Amino acid sequence: MVILMAEKRDYYEVLGVSRGASDDELKKAYRKLAKQYHPDLHPNDKEAEAKFKEVNEAYEVLSDSDKRAKYDQFGHAGVDPSYGGGAGAGGFGGFGGFGDMGDIFDSIFGSFGGGRASANPNAPRRGQDIRASVTIDFMEACKGKKIEVRMNRMERCPDCGGSGAKPGTSAKTCPDCGGRGQVNVQQRTPFGSITSTRVCSRCSGQGKIIDSPCPRCSGQGRTRSSAKREIEIPAGIDNGQTLRVAGAGDAGINGGPNGDLNVTVSVRRDSVFERDGFDVWTEIPLTFAQVTLGDEITVPTVDGKVRYTVPAGTQTGTVFRLRGKGIKKLNRSDKGDHYVRVVVETPKGLNKEMIRRLNEFDNMLSEKNYAKRQSFLSKIRERLM
Ligand SMILES: [Zn+2]
Ligand SMILES: [Zn+2]
Repeated sequence: MVILMAEKRDYYEVLGVSRGASDDELKKAYRKLAKQYHPDLHPNDKEAEAKFKEVNEAYEVLSDSDKRAKYDQFGHAGVDPSYGGGAGAGGFGGFGGFGDMGDIFDSIFGSFGGGRASANPNAPRRGQDIRASVTIDFMEACKGKKIEVRMNRMERCPDCGGSGAKPGTSAKTCPDCGGRGQVNVQQRTPFGSITSTRVCSRCSGQGKIIDSPCPRCSGQGRTRSSAKREIEIPAGIDNGQTLRVAGAGDAGINGGPNGDLNVTVSVRRDSVFERDGFDVWTEIPLTFAQVTLGDEITVPTVDGKVRYTVPAGTQTGTVFRLRGKGIKKLNRSDKGDHYVRVVVETPKGLNKEMIRRLNEFDNMLSEKNYAKRQSFLSKIRERLM
């Protein structure tokens, strides 16, 4: 506890004012710092967030003459019930919460760039985004495919059309708030009297009162339903990529826009083709005779069969490229390439006659027929000598 107390900075120091600072000086210092560390201006910055809270906390106490007097006399222990009562409480929660301070803050400065959600529960709200996933074959990913996606989402209730009122009846505008869902509350603050808004208690912020709720949606205006939607998977999509279908998610609330549908696409592996970006690789086994004498072979590509002439004397491991025979690039007209890697397959299971003839043939060859072997042998000869 002693350590905790020592760690907590002095409120005057936090605001950078003297102990005798006037209300006006406090206000000025607070506004400057609160603006400087506002979370909307430092998204995901923990340090700024902590500073912002610290500044708010200091001002919350020093701007209240009663709390300030207690703080001056007893320090932190005099004003924070949670102080010293447990680690982690941090103190800030004891002052009526971050939310209230946020409201006051908003009414002074206005919101910075829309980072804060509207406080009015009656305002139109966007529906939630939803997720779905589909699995397609390798070739379908190359060519593109129309596919039906099944999902579960909140839809506007078909019985009441989203009003939440039993068919044949209608919702009444709330007389307390006039349909706004909020009522004004006068608040005395260090800045003078501020009018803030509170959720209307009569209609719970809905702005309307439903005497007979729609039985199908229990007055919610939306129901959870399973839905199907055909989506176009573009040619060139890769495993794990996500397609966004705008407006196909949950229905909006109070006339707000629908959320989106995010479809994650899984692509099955292919037995012959391997993908690398928009290029495709295949390994083709060829015989000793084919690579020695040269041959015209047929190469399967995602674009169909392609004839290719393997030149005489092709070595194993050689890679040749078929330009533009790969996968169509997303939202573009050009394509990747197709790469073929040659692997010479050594024959097995030879009979006596084959072995005799192969030996006969081999005896006719010399080092001159094997450039690589010749160079290698000459290198190790030097080492062995
Ligand atoms: Zn309904
Ligand atoms: Zn109301």
